[in-house]
Amino acid sequence: MSDCLFCRIVARELPATVVHETDTTLAFRDIAPQAPVHVIVVPKIHATDAVALTTTAPGVLDDLFRTAGEVAKTENVADSGYRLLFNTGVEAGQTVFHAHLHVLGGRRLGPLA
Ligand code: 5GP
Ligand code: ZN
Repeated sequence: MSDCLFCRIVARELPATVVHETDTTLAFRDIAPQAPVHVIVVPKIHATDAVALTTTAPGVLDDLFRTAGEVAKTENVADSGYRLLFNTGVEAGQTVFHAHLHVLGGRRLGPLA
């Protein structure tokens, strides 16, 4: 059994509210949403962060963005606007070391830092 939280969600060993799934990605609601829409999009393959993913699985980053676009449509923020965000490393606030793309929307978002 993996000790990576998001690998365990991908394996359905831990529950999550899944909103979209493809062959290579899984999208589920953040457990502590920072906006009315806050969905996490992860690659099914493990990589510690988004940049590591470019080596581990070239091309899957494209899949993450494609899934994020689908999520934005089904969550009704595609037109109003939304934020796509990768926290990369501790100083950036990354807490789960499995690459993940935040999809945030549904309200006017403030500055980043
Ligand atoms: P990070 O801070 O690493 O960029 O983002 C990790 C995100 O994962 C946080 O927004 C946090 O709320 C979310 N998260 C942490 N644990 C869980 C969990 O068990 N389930 C879900 N759905 N989200 C989680
Ligand atoms: Zn993982």
